[in-house]
Amino acid sequence: MMRPALAPKALIHQKFGSQAQYRIEEVLQHAENSCPGLAIAQQPRSLYKCYLDLPELSVSSDPFPRKKDAEHAASKIAMEMLGIESKVNNPTPQEALDELILRISYFFADEFLSSNHPLAGHFKVAFKRIGGRFGMIPLPVVTACDAKVSNLCKAINPKAESDPVLALSILLKAVRMSASICISDVGFWIWKLGTHSAAIPSLVEKLDSASVENIHVEAVLFPLLPERDVESLTLCFSDSQYYMDEIAQKLNVKDSSCILISRIIGKASSEMRLYFSAPKLLSCSSDSLDNFFSSKESNINLEKMLNRRASYLSGQNIYGDAIMVQVGYTWKSSDLFCDDVFLSSYYRLLLGKLPNGHYKLLREAMLGAELPTAYTTRSNWKGPAPKTLLSVFCRQHRLSEPIFSTRTFDCTETSAEICYVSKKSKLLSLVDEDENVNGELEKSISAFRCEVKICSKKGDPIIECSCDDTYRKECDAIQGTALKVLSWLTRYFEQLDMPVKNLLEFGLAYNISVYPQAFLNEFAIGLSSYDFQKEKRCTLSPISMNLSNSKYENGMIHCNIDGPDSGVYPSPGSVICISYAVVLLHKDDDTVNEILESKDEFEFEMGTGAVINELEFCMNQLTVNQSAQFHVDLPFKHLILAAAGEPTKRISQLSLDDCFLEYSVKLLQVTEPLEERIEQALFSPPLSKQRVEFAVKRINESHASSLVDFGCGSGSLLNLLLDHTTTLGTIAGVDISRRSLIRAAKVLHSKLSTNTKGQDIISCAALYDGSITKFDSRLFGFDIGTCLEVIEHMEEDEACLFGEIVLSLFRPKVLIVSTPNYEYNPILQRSSFPSQDNSEDKATPSKFRNHDHKFEWTRQQFQQWANSLAAKHHYIVEFSGVGGSGDSEPGFASQIAVFRRNSIPSEKLRMSNQETSQPYEMIWEWSSQSPFLSESN
Ligand code: SAH
Ligand code: MG
Repeated sequence: MMRPALAPKALIHQKFGSQAQYRIEEVLQHAENSCPGLAIAQQPRSLYKCYLDLPELSVSSDPFPRKKDAEHAASKIAMEMLGIESKVNNPTPQEALDELILRISYFFADEFLSSNHPLAGHFKVAFKRIGGRFGMIPLPVVTACDAKVSNLCKAINPKAESDPVLALSILLKAVRMSASICISDVGFWIWKLGTHSAAIPSLVEKLDSASVENIHVEAVLFPLLPERDVESLTLCFSDSQYYMDEIAQKLNVKDSSCILISRIIGKASSEMRLYFSAPKLLSCSSDSLDNFFSSKESNINLEKMLNRRASYLSGQNIYGDAIMVQVGYTWKSSDLFCDDVFLSSYYRLLLGKLPNGHYKLLREAMLGAELPTAYTTRSNWKGPAPKTLLSVFCRQHRLSEPIFSTRTFDCTETSAEICYVSKKSKLLSLVDEDENVNGELEKSISAFRCEVKICSKKGDPIIECSCDDTYRKECDAIQGTALKVLSWLTRYFEQLDMPVKNLLEFGLAYNISVYPQAFLNEFAIGLSSYDFQKEKRCTLSPISMNLSNSKYENGMIHCNIDGPDSGVYPSPGSVICISYAVVLLHKDDDTVNEILESKDEFEFEMGTGAVINELEFCMNQLTVNQSAQFHVDLPFKHLILAAAGEPTKRISQLSLDDCFLEYSVKLLQVTEPLEERIEQALFSPPLSKQRVEFAVKRINESHASSLVDFGCGSGSLLNLLLDHTTTLGTIAGVDISRRSLIRAAKVLHSKLSTNTKGQDIISCAALYDGSITKFDSRLFGFDIGTCLEVIEHMEEDEACLFGEIVLSLFRPKVLIVSTPNYEYNPILQRSSFPSQDNSEDKATPSKFRNHDHKFEWTRQQFQQWANSLAAKHHYIVEFSGVGGSGDSEPGFASQIAVFRRNSIPSEKLRMSNQETSQPYEMIWEWSSQSPFLSESN
C-alpha cells in the first residue's frame, strides 16, 4: 500500500492543474554574507523565491539557490495551509479519527482566529454574535471549509466523500470524543469548552469591516420533487447577518447549523455549493447515530429524500430541496465572497456532464456544434481532443482515468485489405467491399490499433472498447478510440431508458463490452435523475451517430440561400469557416425573439458530423460568401437554456411549445480537402506515394541519369526520390509558384547537404521559377520528365501547349504525365456521401477533387490528348495509373501516360531556333563539388 510520496509540486499539480501559477523572483545575495570565509567570492549569488497563486490562496517561499527547491517549498506551504496531506500512507480509521479530533480542537485555538483560513470567517461572525450562540459555529461548515477534515473523514469511511450526511455523522462522533468541544442539543452548533481568550472581542472588532450593505445574489433552487422545475431565486446577504441564516431561511429551516453543504461544484475557485437541510431523522437523535446508517429503515427513508438532480450534478448524495449558491469565506479575503449563479450556469453544468457536452461548451457552440463522429487528422479536428474529453468525462463521473493500450502490427497483403476497409469506414464510410479501390498495396504496412478500458474508482471494469480501426499513427489511434467511446456514451445518454438487457447488444455495435452491473452502479443516479427525453419539448429527428443512415435523409430541411454562386463550395474533408446565429422564435407570437447563440467565426470539418445535421446539410449547398436561413425544431430544453445565458430566466418561464429555432448562416471560407487527404484516407499507401513508386520504377528501368519534374510544387517528388536508390545523377524542378519553390529548396538543400542516404550519387540539382508552357534550353534532352498532377491546374489550352512544348522542344527520352481520372470521382464522393445514391450522381455532375483544378479528364479525353501528341512528335505512349485497377471500371484513380521517344535513326536530336532561350529563373542550385557556394536566393 505504501507508495512513494509525491513531490509537493506534483501534488499541487494533481489538485489544481494549470490553476496553480508559479512565479519565480530572483533575489541577489552577496557572497560574503553566505560564506564569510571566502574573500575571493565577490560575485553576488542568485537565490530564488517562489510565489504560488492558487484559486484559493497565494503563498511565497523563502529564497533558495535552486528554482526547483523554491517551487517545492511554496507548494509545501500551500499544502499545509490547505490541509492537503503529502504523505500517501493512508492512516488507519482509528489514526484518522484521532487526528480529526486534534484538527477540530485546533480550530478553537485563539491564534486560529487571526489566520486567513476560511473557517476563521465563521468564527468572526460567532464572536460578534450577541446572545445564546456566542462563539458557536455550525459543525457542517467544518468539512466544507477544511480539506484536511474531509480527507480524514474519507479515511475513516470512504463513502463519506460522496455523502455529506455520513461525513457529518463522523464529525459528530469526533466532537463527542473530544474533551474540549461541546455540541448543542438542538442542531449541530459546536463551541469551545471553557472561556476564550480575552483578546477575542477586540480581535474581532479590528477585523470587522464597517460596511453594512445588502448584496443580492442569484441562486438556483433544486426542488426535491422531480416534477417541479429547477428555478432561480434571489438571496440577500448582509454584514449584519450570518449568511448561513439567509440560506436556512430560504430552505425553510429554523436552525442554520442544520444546513449541510456539498463540495464545490464546477471550478475550484467558484465556491459554488449545494446547501440542503440535514435529514430530520438525523438531527436530534445524535446518540443513535452509529445505528443510523446501519438501520434499514433509515436508509429507505433517506432514499426517498434523495434529490436526484442535485446529487447527479454534485456527485454527492443530496437530500431534500437544495439551493445552489456561490457564497462563503475564502483564503483570499476576509470578506464574504459571493457571486450569482444563473439558471444557465446550472444548465451548462448539466450539459458539461454529458459525454458530448463538454465539447459543445468548450467550443462555445451548444446549438451549432456536435461531437464529431469521426476523427480524421489532428489538424482537422477543432476543439478539445477526444482523449481529453474522455478523461474529463471520467473525472466528472468519478471514474478512474481511462487506460489506453495500443498495438502495432504489420498488415500482410490480405490483412491490408481489411486494414484499408476499416480505415475507410472510420473516416468516411463504406464503399462496397467488392470494389477494389486499392490497387497497388504495399507489402507491409505498419498500423496501430487502440483499446481503452474504463474502470470505477475502485478499479472494477465498466466498459472496454477494442477498436478495429487501424491508424497510421499511434496518437490518432488513441484519439479515434476515445472518440468512439464518447460517441457510444452520447448515444446511451440520449436513451437512458434503455432496458438493461439491451445494453450489451448496444455496446456490441461499437465493439464495446459493457459490464452491466458496474456500468449501472456508476451511472445509477445519473440514470434515474435525468430523463433527457423528457426535457425535449418537440419531436426532433433522432440524433443519430450513424453517418450513413440518417445524416442527410433526416436533415432534409429547406434553406433560403442568398447571394451569387461563387463556385467555391465545401466537400467532404473541407475545413470550413462559417458565421452563424440562432434565434428562438414562436410560430404565432412575434414578441418571442431571443438570440440564443451567435458566432462570428466557427471552423469545422465537413463530413465528420461536427455540427448538427441540419447545419451540415445546409452548408453542403452553399458556396463561399453565400448565406442562408433555415428552421429547426427545438432540441432538448437544457441545451436551449444552457445556450441562452442571461435571458435564461425569461426563457425558462416561456412555454416553448410552439417555438422553433431559426439559424442564419454564412459560409466564409473553405479550406479544400487536400487531394492528398482524401487519397490518404482511401488508399494505402497514399496515392502520392504510389506515384513516386511508379516513377522510381520507370527511372531505374530506363537507367535514366537526369530527371526534370515539371510543376514540382514544393518538391515532394524530388524529395522522396532522394530516399530511393536510383540511377539519377542530375535532378531539376520547375514551377510557377515561388513560395512552393522556396520550400522545395529548403527541403532539398538540407537533405542533400546532410548526405545520409542513397543520394550521394546526385551531383547536380536545381530549381527554376517559370512556366512549363515555355521552353528553357537548360532542361533540354533530359532522360526523364515527370509532370504529376499538374496539367489539370492549367487551362486546357495551356495543357495542350505544354504537351507540344515538352515533346517537341524539351524532348525527354521518357515523359510521365499523371492527372486525376474524372470517372473515378463518384467513388471518392460516394464514399464520403454515402446517402447520395447513384441516380443523383448522374444528375449532378461530379465535382472536381480540388477547386484549383481547371478541368479533370475522363480516360478517353486523356488518352486522346496523349495519343495525338505522341503521334505528332514521334513518341509511343502507354497508359497506366495508380489507385484502383486499370482492368475494371472506372479505371485508376489517377491516370498516367508514359511517353517514350522513338529512336528513329533519321531523327537526330536537335534543338530548334529557340535553343538559346532561357526564360526560367534559377532560384537554387546544388552541386556535389561545391555545395555551399552554389546556393543563390
Ligand atoms: N507535382 C507536384 C505538385 C502538383 S500541384 C506534386 O505532385 O505534388 C500543381 C503544381 O503545378 C503547383 O505547384 C502549381 O504551381 C504548378 N503549376 C501550375 N501551372 C503551372 C505552369 N504553367 N508552369 C509551372 N508550374 C505550374
Ligand atoms: Mg491536382
